Amino acid sequence: MRYEGMVYRPPSEARSFILQVTIGCAHNDCTFCTMYKEKQFRIRKMDEIRADIEEVYSVYGDNIRRIFLADGDALVIPTVQLKEILRLLRARFPSAERITSYGAPHDVLRKSPEELRELQEEGLEMVYMGLESGDNEVLRRIRKGATAEEIIEAGIKLKTAGIQASVTLISGLGGRERLKEHAIASAKAITAMKPHYVGFLTLMVEEPAPIVEEIRSGRMELLTPEEVVDEMELFLSNVDSEGTVFRANHASNYMLLKGNLNEDIPAMIQQIEDIRNRNGFRKERWRAL
Ligand code: SF4
Repeated sequence: MRYEGMVYRPPSEARSFILQVTIGCAHNDCTFCTMYKEKQFRIRKMDEIRADIEEVYSVYGDNIRRIFLADGDALVIPTVQLKEILRLLRARFPSAERITSYGAPHDVLRKSPEELRELQEEGLEMVYMGLESGDNEVLRRIRKGATAEEIIEAGIKLKTAGIQASVTLISGLGGRERLKEHAIASAKAITAMKPHYVGFLTLMVEEPAPIVEEIRSGRMELLTPEEVVDEMELFLSNVDSEGTVFRANHASNYMLLKGNLNEDIPAMIQQIEDIRNRNGFRKERWRAL
């Protein structure tokens, strides 16, 4: 496989065949993100994609269970080409259970409902989409390039096309100043979208992310573990998204939480209380991105 640069994938794709269909992220501007800063964005040529598929097929045959289309936003690819990639994958790996990708909100919105439906019919099962925050002020500060309303619309559009939406939020992204707004607006956005999955990471900063400078200069303050779980409690107390699978089990999180909304909210709030009482937060040195 000719992987170019560092390759990222969601935790649930740890055992997937990662196929790079784009290099980097077309947006590449979010202030907290370092993932693709060293890459110049481009859509990969079909002959390279075909060669990677053939190489994996020659080694594993039809024994691939999950496929993830990397890098940052496969949905930026024109629908005709994306359908061809999905067709090639399904022809080689008919036993694969699912094909998934990251998707930027504007790329989802740019596609018509018919195009999304066609992608679903060709095998695109789920799209991981970063909401990051439901608070438009936070989204503006982090240069997300989309408003909460646009991201909600994109999530609903995916669901309507039969594509599952797995939506990511970041604890602490509003800093101390916007803790409350970030938690409550994020809960409102998830309530409006009702995605299949919602996952929380916790903000960790590293060079060369522009947010590092904001923290250094005091324009933004990182939350303590106690404040992060306060924020989580506020989110859980305000969200209403029956049936959404909730996960806050990323290595960056100070505590692990998982359950189904809404039924497991009281138990998760109790778990937060227990962790607070025994100061059972994950140690800083054990956190990772
Ligand atoms: S968070 Fe996602 S959209 Fe933003 S720069 Fe990173 S990869 Fe691109």
